[in-house]
Amino acid sequence: MRALTYHGAHKVSVDNRPDPVIESSDDIILRVTATAICGSDLHLYHGKIPGTNHGDIFGHEFMGEVVETGPGVHAVSKGDRVVIPFVIACGECFFCKLHQYSACEQTNSGKGAALNRKGITPPAALFGYSDLYGGIPGGQAEYVRVPKANTGPFKVPDTLADEKVLFLSDILPTAWQAVKNAEVKPGSSVAIYGAGPVGLLTAACARLEGAEQIFMIDDSDYRLAFARDRYGVIPINFDKNDDPAAWIIENTAGHRGVDAVIDAVGFEAKGSTTETVLSTLKIEGSSGKVLRQAIAATRRGGIVSVPGVYAGFIHAFMFGDAFDKGLTFKMGQTHVHAYLPDLLPLIESGHLKPEEIVTHHLQLEEAARGYDIFDKHAEDCRKVILVPGM
Ligand code: NAD
Ligand code: ZN
Ligand code: ZN
Repeated sequence: MRALTYHGAHKVSVDNRPDPVIESSDDIILRVTATAICGSDLHLYHGKIPGTNHGDIFGHEFMGEVVETGPGVHAVSKGDRVVIPFVIACGECFFCKLHQYSACEQTNSGKGAALNRKGITPPAALFGYSDLYGGIPGGQAEYVRVPKANTGPFKVPDTLADEKVLFLSDILPTAWQAVKNAEVKPGSSVAIYGAGPVGLLTAACARLEGAEQIFMIDDSDYRLAFARDRYGVIPINFDKNDDPAAWIIENTAGHRGVDAVIDAVGFEAKGSTTETVLSTLKIEGSSGKVLRQAIAATRRGGIVSVPGVYAGFIHAFMFGDAFDKGLTFKMGQTHVHAYLPDLLPLIESGHLKPEEIVTHHLQLEEAARGYDIFDKHAEDCRKVILVPGM
């Protein structure tokens, strides 16, 4: 089969790889009909995630048709059309029973367990996300093996095109969890740092939940303009205004700041540093610029919600200010499975239109170009969908 594979920082190509086979009785093989490139893939592409190997197949946002099932699979059958959560969860362990699927203790027991922090179980395995997250080949390919197929695959109706439901795999539930964590409600004020795919869908979800004032911060004018026109955000370009938090405070009721800040940027925020360790691993850190902004822009008693991925130390994290203001922090990898039954009806009813952020539909063969333009913000790129055999 053809698959997008890693060959070192900024080097990916579509290569021939062996077709995946059933390895456990609850595996399925999926023929991929659509897959997307995520900001999380860019961390791998930049060579920032330890345990990424030459030849690894990337991709954790994908959907398709079930073409083979292991003998223990009862939840889906051959021919079903399904979206796959990027988190691989068993559905039965301590954390899965709490619906905290991204903490599943059963799926990342091999390579990931060895690399992760000693003494506690590692987080759940993820598709296409390095040995640190289980070393499971991803779905930017013609075919992919899906473990734990009685828990993950989510059936979608034939009436909805791939691009409408594909983002149930990751960025739509991620935006939704970020907004739920931020406790956005009618009349809320919120500031969203990052106008990438996650930030944009976060703005859509915040609007749906009734947010009144949404500030959005990025240095990408075309992404900000889209968010302004589509979701009514107040755009702030941090290249022209290097202290957006000060401006936000000036422009909120009572100069209090916003009820919540959502950090949809993560550790690769412009201005990253290079020391830092996670457990025993060398990993790049962050200047903490967005977190400093988040603490500054949030009102007393407010919430900082962090869907953006972090690793290692964060520099100059103003914990004293956070204490003084009595802030709440909520963050982490998304518990995808938990939100899908609520989100599908919102897509069916047209309340959420996640496909509107897509700018590029490319053949899988063009995946390397897709990474390049998404990474460089070229061609006004917001989100790339790859279609095998298009
Ligand atoms: P993206 O790279 O397309 O978007 C990030 C945006 O942040 C870009 O538009 C960039 O210009 C902007 N940015 C950079 N530095 C900034 C700064 N200092 N202030 C404001 N904006 C800044 O990525 P994406 O797909 O939107 O993903 C965003 C983050 O969410 C990534 O860290 C990704 O790994 C993470 N993510 C987390 C989960 C989860 O489960 N928690 C799931 C999906 C993605
Ligand atoms: Zn993703
Ligand atoms: Zn589990």
